[in-house]
Amino acid sequence: MPLDRRAGYWDRAKETMSPRARERYQARWLARLIQHAWEKAPGVRRRLEHARLTPRGVRSAADLTRLPVIKKSEMPDLQKVDPPFGGFCTVPLGKLRRIFVSPGPILEPMGPEVGAWHGEAGLFAGGFRAGDVVLNTYLYHLVPAAHELDEALHLIGCTVVPTGVGNTDTQVTVARAVGATGYVGTPSFLMTILQRAEEMGVGRLPFQVAQVGAEALPESLRRRFEEDYGIMTRQGFGTADIGLVAYECPEKSGMHLVDDAIVEVCDPQTGEPLPPGQIGELVATVNNTTYPMIRFGTGDLTIVSDEPCPCGRTASRMLGWRGRADEVTKVRGMFIHPRQVDEVAARAGGVARCQVVVGREGHQDMLIFRAELAPGAEATAVRGAVVSAIRDVMKLRGSVEIVPAGAIPEAARKIADERKWD
Ligand SMILES: [Zn+2]
Repeated sequence: MPLDRRAGYWDRAKETMSPRARERYQARWLARLIQHAWEKAPGVRRRLEHARLTPRGVRSAADLTRLPVIKKSEMPDLQKVDPPFGGFCTVPLGKLRRIFVSPGPILEPMGPEVGAWHGEAGLFAGGFRAGDVVLNTYLYHLVPAAHELDEALHLIGCTVVPTGVGNTDTQVTVARAVGATGYVGTPSFLMTILQRAEEMGVGRLPFQVAQVGAEALPESLRRRFEEDYGIMTRQGFGTADIGLVAYECPEKSGMHLVDDAIVEVCDPQTGEPLPPGQIGELVATVNNTTYPMIRFGTGDLTIVSDEPCPCGRTASRMLGWRGRADEVTKVRGMFIHPRQVDEVAARAGGVARCQVVVGREGHQDMLIFRAELAPGAEATAVRGAVVSAIRDVMKLRGSVEIVPAGAIPEAARKIADERKWD
């Protein structure tokens, strides 16, 4: 019987709990984590004290908002002042299993406990099963992703081949030699390996399942993996600091949040949580007793939906990665991002090149979508389609200006902010 990669759960009780039960579950670990960090992590204690809080004041996800967000960009300085981990590590140096070095530099400790990076549920939901032989093509030195996934795959019962980055020909040869059924790594490198196998004339690689991350996965690329190569392809989202926080299930309609992360979507400037459905910065608190990141601002933008998912998992879903917070512009209280400008153009159709100009008229922000028409496109139709796409994608009203071909310079910014504040 062929392996059913879509059915079942890694931890049914957790993954299908009711929203109330999840709130209680998270409140329980949060209270324990905060108490532990208060005693063992002076960096966390300083932040609580600064906010005039003790562990008693942080007993639920709602209480977390009383603490400021730690920006990822602050980490190098925090660690310089209190080396090596900024006072955020609860375990003596000699008891750690690994220390990673991410760009910044930011040091990340990996503690003695297994499963602290929460990758197992995501890999299982994405189709990995015990007995899979998996090529792990993430970088194995300095940064943590490869090791975190390595451990999670081991917990599921997979065999890992730590091939690391690059060496395409070796990857192809090894994948065939060991009959690798699984792949983890970036989507672009998966395509490189598949194409190289064809060039080398070794036939189709045995991959059946892939979890990809670290870069965007265009749906067109996923279709090629799934339809042309028969590889069930799902995404995970995490960062070096907090581990995996979200993963796709068989439905592939957004990434379920892991139960051991409390994720907020916040205004990147004020750190205030935003209403559901709005784009904002992903701020996470993760249940990692060695390295308790409390309200860690990833700098990544996303939207979270709490619509139910047919797969039966009840956790909210992160609707894709929407770019970096430092690229956003606020218009009438809503954040817009360069990727949304492209999304508007793609939805509307008939647009060859475009740019959004944000200006002021009186005390009102004005959003003008400038568009060069694609050959054969009709101005009135494009205008109407763009206006409704702006409303759908950006939740804003905007006007459209059709400009002659070549009017928008090649190097123009996607969002030109022409507001003057004086
Ligand atoms: Zn689902």
